[in-house]
Order: sequence, then structure tokens, then C-alpha cells
Amino acid sequence: MNSYHLHEKDALTMTDKTNPRPIRRLNETVVNRIAAGEIINRPANALKELIENSLDAGASNIQITVKDGGLKLLQILDNGHGIRKEDMTIVCERFTTSKLKNFEDLSNINTYGFRGEALASISHVAHVTITTKTADSNCAYRACYSDGKLVPAKPGTNAEPKACAGNTGTQITAEDLFYNVPTRRKALKSPSDEYNRILDVVNRYAIHNSGVSFTCKKQGSNQAEVNTLSMSSVLDNIRQIYGSIASELLGLSKSFKKLEFKLNGYISNANYNLKKMIFLLFINHRAVENSSLKKAIESIYTTYLPKNTHPFAYLSLEINPQNVDVNVHPTKREVRFLNEDEVIAAVGDAIQESLAGANSSRTFLTQTLLPGAESIETNTNLAENSIKKSGVKVLNYKLVRTDSRVQTLDDFCNPDNTFNMQPKDNPKKGNNNFPNSSKNIVNSNVGSSNLKRKRERFDVRLTSILTLRKRLKEIEHKGLTELLANHTFVGCVDDSLTLALVQHQTKLYMVNYNVLSEELFYQLALYGFHNFGFIHLSIPAPIRELTIFALESCDHDKSEDLKPNEEISQIIIDQLISRKEMLLEYFSMTITENGELATLPLMLKGYAPNLDKLPTFLLRLGTEVDWETETGCFETLSRELGLFYAPEPPNFSNISTSISNNQDDNSMDICDTSNVNKDNSLLLPKRKSSEKETNLIFTEQQKKAEIARYKWQIEHLIFPTLKSQFIAPKSIAENGHVLQIANLPDLYRIFERC
Ligand code: ADP
Ligand code: MG
Repeated sequence: MNSYHLHEKDALTMTDKTNPRPIRRLNETVVNRIAAGEIINRPANALKELIENSLDAGASNIQITVKDGGLKLLQILDNGHGIRKEDMTIVCERFTTSKLKNFEDLSNINTYGFRGEALASISHVAHVTITTKTADSNCAYRACYSDGKLVPAKPGTNAEPKACAGNTGTQITAEDLFYNVPTRRKALKSPSDEYNRILDVVNRYAIHNSGVSFTCKKQGSNQAEVNTLSMSSVLDNIRQIYGSIASELLGLSKSFKKLEFKLNGYISNANYNLKKMIFLLFINHRAVENSSLKKAIESIYTTYLPKNTHPFAYLSLEINPQNVDVNVHPTKREVRFLNEDEVIAAVGDAIQESLAGANSSRTFLTQTLLPGAESIETNTNLAENSIKKSGVKVLNYKLVRTDSRVQTLDDFCNPDNTFNMQPKDNPKKGNNNFPNSSKNIVNSNVGSSNLKRKRERFDVRLTSILTLRKRLKEIEHKGLTELLANHTFVGCVDDSLTLALVQHQTKLYMVNYNVLSEELFYQLALYGFHNFGFIHLSIPAPIRELTIFALESCDHDKSEDLKPNEEISQIIIDQLISRKEMLLEYFSMTITENGELATLPLMLKGYAPNLDKLPTFLLRLGTEVDWETETGCFETLSRELGLFYAPEPPNFSNISTSISNNQDDNSMDICDTSNVNKDNSLLLPKRKSSEKETNLIFTEQQKKAEIARYKWQIEHLIFPTLKSQFIAPKSIAENGHVLQIANLPDLYRIFERC
């Protein structure tokens, strides 16, 4: 035997060990009390159970009265269906319930209760009195309970329920909570702290149950801390309880068929923040906590909110009851559900989408003005508004506002999601009437009297476009499409490279998102054809100057027998002007009579191309687009759009872009501030030599903000679209633009050997 140096205390234990005590069955009351303590660990917790019972009983009015934080008295009165007299004897016994008949019911339960433990538990740690009346009973009955059983109200009297006066419904009173569990009582904080927890529970249920009126007050007080009306909406209830937050909320409502759940709720917008997050989470109408979801939401908001500030979120998830396990936590505070990670990711995406789509008053820092350039008069108001709203002083020319409610990708595929085909009114430019195409069918459900005009979507019937779309399917690499459709974005590899890591199942891949995006925007061009929104260039871009600039920047061999730049530029302008109706109708590109480009197609909600690439794009419209055949033209033009829109990391030595939203749902403004002189006319991008003469440089902070914005677009616009909308061509799969760099099972094999 090993020899140990025993301390005196250990020695005592040893003695106990050598002389084992006899095992005794615990007295049933003690067992029940221990179990009760696990289920009901504080007044707020008991109240939650009682509220849930009232809601299950179909109550539309719930009144709560509290004394000493619920420790002295916790009373709840409802107008639900009441309890039948014959059930009153067993209502407080453990495992008695009217909500569950057999084991199978457990997985289908749609009510709050299911274990029949709450009332029993409360009766083991408090004096419980129930007064109740069902609709078909002539009178109400009252009974008192202790340790799960009926007890006489006064010593020496009968314990049977007594007839009394009362309305239909139930009143349950729990007095002297934990009177028989002094350790628990001591562990609780002050009554005021317990009362705050009670209010928190009532607030949550009051907000979530918009058809039910709730009041909560201290005994003896005639002022209720919570007071909601049965007629009010969820938003009214939030306003009633949290005040001004209500006007800063974005509504969420979405169904997820595959994951079998529905999401509803309200989240605060980017202009609102709190010192501490308020997170009201309901899963199948039960107030629960879920720290992973909370973390996921917090991390989404870090992009939007100032450091150390937090959002408000009220979320209600309705998950197929068969996928939910409510049994993991004794107080039912936490629940587990199937596909938790996917569900959380889907909720996160919905929040992200809503935030990105509603940040109409959001201010982003972006690339600064090109050295020496002036800020633009017309943007001043916008800038001031943004400063007021955000509270952060940002120079005009660094402002970017992204619209918000522009089209989603679903719109491309789902003809029910209709489009606004009315170009934004532009008083300066007369020719904005959108020609109706005879070849295409217009969904003609536009009632001019409608306040909110319904958008139309053109049903594209052109063989050329349909053929090009079909071709995408013919050259599809199904494996890669599937990989991208089910990937998880990991992160960008480097600030200057267009590489990102994505995970698919157990494998990690490095993808060149620039190449993927080129193809993506090509496909978006084909699917959005004739249905694009508009990106308005605040200052129309002069095609002549920009193409000449592009020509001069090209490294072509001077000895080549080329036409003079001016001449080439003129050919391009003539070409574009002669096609301007088609460009406007099908590609939302407005070419003015003066040879300017005023609008570009809005291909992806919230996304604008990097205007550094505009000169090259315009030049290539002249040199690379096949203007002769219909299919050739749409294909090559779409390819050029793909090339132009594919993201490239910001280049701090050149142009700055500022985007602003319109009131119009289907358009955004973008202005290239680098090229603007005092006359508000767009000039050539500045040449390298003149940059040196100026002294405006990017601060590190501005660069960081711009990189962050760029990366945000990659993560939240590009990759989600690759996920939902992309048909991967074989060429990309075969050309090493998507490389597997690690496989978890292989890694395990390696680590196992270590
Ligand atoms: P559970 O809710 O899991 O069924 P409880 O111990 O919470 O178990 O409640 C036991 C039973 O008492 C319920 O099934 C219900 O029939 C009845 N009950 C409790 N509270 C009320 C109420 N406020 N109104 C009507 N019936 C109630
Ligand atoms: Mg219950």
C-alpha cells in the first residue's frame, strides 16, 4: 500500500472511508425540495413558470403583484380557462400536467409546460394558494398547498378546495419563497435586485405577447412598473417598455424552409447603441438564452457600432418542435435545437442583410479625396446630415452612404419580387423616360394610384439572353457550385491580394475572389438584364477624357500604327451614343448626348464598382465589345461589366469614391470625388506627377477604414452572393482559382502521430 502523510482532516475522512456510513433513502420531502430548488432557484424564475402557465391557459390579461422582490409574495392573476375543481387536488403534485399524455407528445409539445413540475416545485419551497374558476363552473374554488399536497388554510380546518367568489381565470399566490431552504434564501441578492429580475421577465413576455396585457407592480403601490395593453403591437410594447429605442428598430421576418424555422423580431439600427446589449430571445415562444447566438449578433454589430457599444435585439424563432430539446436545463432557461450552427448563421445573415439594407443614414469613412481636389457642393447637405446622425465629425469628401433598400439577388430570379423600372428623376437630364420594349412582357400591375408604387419586372424572352444563360448551365462545374453554395467564409488572406479562405465541410480552400467575381458579375449581368436598378454618378463621367486617359496609361507600343487617341475616343463615343437606347433599356447605362456616362447598372444591392476601373471599362466598351451581333454584344458587354465590377483592393494613390443612397429603392448615387475641380466637372484622374505637388495624404486611420469597408463588401456582399447565386464554370474549377489547402481528417492523421 502507498504510504501517505495524512493531515488530521484527511485522517478523519479516512476513518469515514474505512467505516462507511449506511446508505439511506432520503425522505421524499427532502428529495422534492432538492429537485424544486433546481427548478425554482429565484423568484423571477418561479414567475416565469407562472406566466407561462397563464399564457398556456389562453389568458389575455395577466396581473402580477410582488412584495420584497417576490420573496414575501408573488401573485399572478389571469383570465385564462381556469383549473377544474376535480384537478385541484393533484395540480401541485409532481408530474401532473394537462399538457402531455404520452412520451411522443414530448417532441411535439407546443405549450410552455410539459413536465408538470413547476407548480409542484413552487409548493415545495413556498406557501401556495390557488383560486380558480372555469367558465362552466358556478363559482370559484380556493385551495392551499404545501409540499405538493392540499393543506388546510387554517390549522384544524378541511383541506378540500373551498367555494368562493371569483371571475373565470386563475390566481396563484406564492408566499414566503424558500422559507424552508435558508441557504437558498441567503444566496439571493437584495429584494430590489430580485424585483429587477422579475421586471425583466415580465418585460420580455409582455413584449413578445402582443395580444396579452401585462401589469406588474409592487404590493400596495398604485403605480405599475409594467403596463401593456392587449391591443398593442410588439413595437408598441417595446416603446412602452424601452421608450425611444422603438423608433430606431428594423423589423425582421423570414422563413427558412430547409432549416425548418421562422424568424421574427426587431433589431436596433446602426445609429443606435447601448452600453449593454439588450437581447430578448424567444424560441417557440419561450424566453430563453443562447450565448452563441448572442455572440454572433454582437460580432455583426461590431462593424456598425462604435467600440464598446451594443445593440438591442428582440428575436423570436419558431423552430419545428421536433427539432428542439427543451429538456436540457432544469429551469428550461436554455434549449438545444437541431442544426444550431446553421440556424445561428442564418439568423446572423438575416440581421446582416437587414442592417446593410437599411443603413440609409449610416456614415462610412472611405478613401479620401484625391490630393488637391475640392469637395462637392451638392454633397454638403448629405454630409451634414450624416454627421448629425452619427455624431462623428467626418469630412464631406470622406463620406460614403450606401443604399440600403436596393434590390436583392433574389429579385433577379424571383419574378414575384418586382422591380422599380422608373429611373430616378433627374431634372438636369431630360431623357429619362424608360422606353417600353415590344419584345418583352411587362408585368402590368402598376396602379398609378398606389401610394407605394409596385415595381415591374421585365420578363426577358430574348433568345440571345436565354441562350447565354443556358450556356452557364452547360459549362457548370457542379462540385464547385455546391462547394460555394455551402461554404463558410473564413476571411481575406491579405489586404492587397484578392484571395480569401473558405471552409467547406472539413476542407479549407483558398479562392481568388476577383476571378470568381468577374464571372459572378457576368452572370448577374445576364440575370439582371433589362431589370437593373441604377447607380447614379453624381457628376456624369466625360467619356472622351476618360478614354484618352486610359489610352495614355496603356503600355502599347508607340510604333504601332494606331489612330490618334482623340480619334479612337471619338469612335467610342459615337458608338455608345448610337446604342444609347439599348444601353439604357437593358443595362441601365445612361449615355448623354454630350458623351457622358451618367448611370451604371446596380447589379448587387449595396455594391458599387471601384471607379478606378472606369476609364479602362469605357475604353474596352469600344475595343472589346462586339457591337455587331445581338448575342455577341450582350455576351461581351456582360463580360466587360464583370471585369469592371469585380472587386479590387483600394488603391490609395488614386481615386476616391463616395456612394450615397437615394430615396428611391432601386438606385444609389456614386461620385468620383477625385476628379472634380471647382467647376464641378469631372476631369481626368490626376497624373502621378501632380500628386506629388499636393499635400493631402491618407491617414492610417482612413486607410484602415477603407480597407475595412472593402473587406466588408467581400464578406457580406460578394461571398453571400457566390453562395446563393453562382453557377461555377468548369474553367474556374480547373484553373487553380480555388485551391484546397487543408483537410481536417488529414490534419488529424498528422496530429495523431505527434
Ligand atoms: P405544466 O405547465 O408543465 O403542465 P405546471 O406544474 O406548470 O406543469 O402546471 C400543472 C398544470 O396546472 C398545468 O398542466 C395546467 O393544467 C394547470 N395550470 C397551472 N397554472 C394554470 C393557470 N394559470 N390556468 C389554468 N391552468 C393552470
Ligand atoms: Mg407550467
